[in-house]
Amino acid sequence: MKKILALPGDGIGAEVMESALEILDYLMTRDNLDLQVNHKSVGGTSYEEHGLPITDEALSLAKDSDAILFGAVGAPKWDSLEWDKRPEQALLTLRKELDLFANLRPAFLFNELADASSLKKGVIENLDILIVRELTGGLYFGEPRGIDKSVTPAFGFNTMRYDADEINRIAKIAFEASQKRKNKVCSVDKANVLEVSRFWRETVTDLHNKNFSSQELSHMLADNAAMQLVIDPNQFDVILASNLFGDILSDIAATLTGSIGMLPSASLNEKNVGMYEPCHGSAPDIAGKDLANPLAMILSLSMAFRYSLNLDSLADELDKAVRCLISNGARTKDIANESTFLKTSEVAKELIEILK
Ligand code: NAD
Repeated sequence: MKKILALPGDGIGAEVMESALEILDYLMTRDNLDLQVNHKSVGGTSYEEHGLPITDEALSLAKDSDAILFGAVGAPKWDSLEWDKRPEQALLTLRKELDLFANLRPAFLFNELADASSLKKGVIENLDILIVRELTGGLYFGEPRGIDKSVTPAFGFNTMRYDADEINRIAKIAFEASQKRKNKVCSVDKANVLEVSRFWRETVTDLHNKNFSSQELSHMLADNAAMQLVIDPNQFDVILASNLFGDILSDIAATLTGSIGMLPSASLNEKNVGMYEPCHGSAPDIAGKDLANPLAMILSLSMAFRYSLNLDSLADELDKAVRCLISNGARTKDIANESTFLKTSEVAKELIEILK
């Protein structure tokens, strides 16, 4: 039996989670799925209940799960807490403790929503790319790092370091993900100026030649990749990038689609255990008003089906149902042009009708 842990979190995190769980519940009954779903509080909600953003019990349940569904955490009222009590610590603890080194961020456009993009319709139409970002190494974690004010002029420094194991494991995820898509991987680096990038390029090429030679591999410098993403995003299938470049490129790709409420993400470890969460935060401005778009959370559930639960056909079915919902004209307030729109709590019901 596969185990899922639901961590709704704060603000709209709890609202969008409710929608995703309603759909999960429907599919579990309909298909008699052998899944167990546990629930725990996390973030500010957990702090209010237990004095901690994540309890040991929640963490050990997470470690014992195949997939973690994570809503969102945070709100201004917890911003002044000490660093280790703040809601975001839940997220960082989970990433670290579960060694979630691979961040998968799809960016795709529902053509009906092309007007929400800052790019011309002809450029953005049919967009469907996946950014695979290394999440636990590189410049954000490399040692030595620091600020030295004992000399003049004072200076700050970081280290960008990747070993072959770190590169191989993230590249393998990218090649495998592309096998479920269009079989094309573009690896991004700055091999023209950085030794670490030259080593990255060499290692990815070796892995490709050894295990994935039937797939198309290309390399692109990060500055050019940023430019190509806005000039001709449809040339890409899977983009493989280090922590720093992936951080920047995934935000560019996300904004191309024009709607933060519809973008899911997955963070995986070597055992394909994953944490699945929307790209957005807890949106205190609309929390409690039944206005949030739950599709990012629902599509995160679909990613959990695909990457951690071996339920690819259910993932396809759910993705298709979401497309159908949008093409039927159903819109939550964030993407509606008119004054009538669906409430958060109505979206799952509409989707279940389509799934039926
Ligand atoms: P946000 O993503 O919460 O909101 C940004 C804007 O997008 C807001 O106007 C919000 O109303 C809108 N929005 C976001 N998701 C939406 C949805 N599903 N449907 C409709 N509209 C949506 O970012 P923020 O305002 O910068 O941060 C708010 C809080 O969330 C902060 O405490 C921040 O630390 C936290 N945060 C958490 C995560 C996470 O848990 N992974 C990520 C980002 C921010």
